[in-house]
Amino acid sequence: MSDIVTSLSRFRESVPENVTLVAVSKTKPNEDLQEAYEAGQRDFGENKIQEMTQKWEDLPDDIRWHMIGHTQRNKVKYMAPYVHLVHGVDSPRLLKEINKQAKKNERVIDCLLQIHIAREQSKFGFDEDELKEFLKSDAFKDLQNVRIKGLMGMATFTDNKDQVREEFRGLKNFYETLKKDIIEPPHEFDTLSMGMTGDYKIAIEEGSNMIRIGSAIFGARN
Ligand SMILES: *Cc1c(COP(=O)(O)O)cnc(C)c1O
Repeated sequence: MSDIVTSLSRFRESVPENVTLVAVSKTKPNEDLQEAYEAGQRDFGENKIQEMTQKWEDLPDDIRWHMIGHTQRNKVKYMAPYVHLVHGVDSPRLLKEINKQAKKNERVIDCLLQIHIAREQSKFGFDEDELKEFLKSDAFKDLQNVRIKGLMGMATFTDNKDQVREEFRGLKNFYETLKKDIIEPPHEFDTLSMGMTGDYKIAIEEGSNMIRIGSAIFGARN
């Protein structure tokens, strides 16, 4: 068996059934994705819209494409016809653009709101209070072509496992609060995307049900 197939099956065996594995294939060639596909993988994550769109054109139709990176508003139109889930929605303006392009394509696009949980300055995302305000606003209620499925967050890049755990735990708590008190149909919270190669075990222990794994499946990126 190839390395890709071996690591995929290892993940399938070790990860609980309720956790969706998104195979992060950014920078990797089509052959690598095809191999994972033939081993049964259907959820793939990319962080550049142009690259994802090229792969969508080249690869089988039943792949579910996840946009996991920071999304530029002027490129939303390229993925609007086909994207399965947009993980990194980090501003009202971006959500509005996704809504607009979804409408043009006569579809509803599923989104996760990215929350800023890391102590680092550089990571994108909403602050908790800012997001609560927005979710209660009329501007949000007007958006009929997006459906909010949950939250996404990235922990600080650190060896300090306690800190990572604390950040994930905070995100899970916030997810439960929004799910219980604020989110109303047609939006429905069922997805908490947290955890990558370095921290997915802690993320699952803290309640993640979607992990985004790149290097542990496809090998290191250049
Ligand atoms: C690249 C990337 C991943 C995967 O990272 P690995 O450490 O290779 O598993 C997960 N999430 C996001 C947002 C990424 O950009």
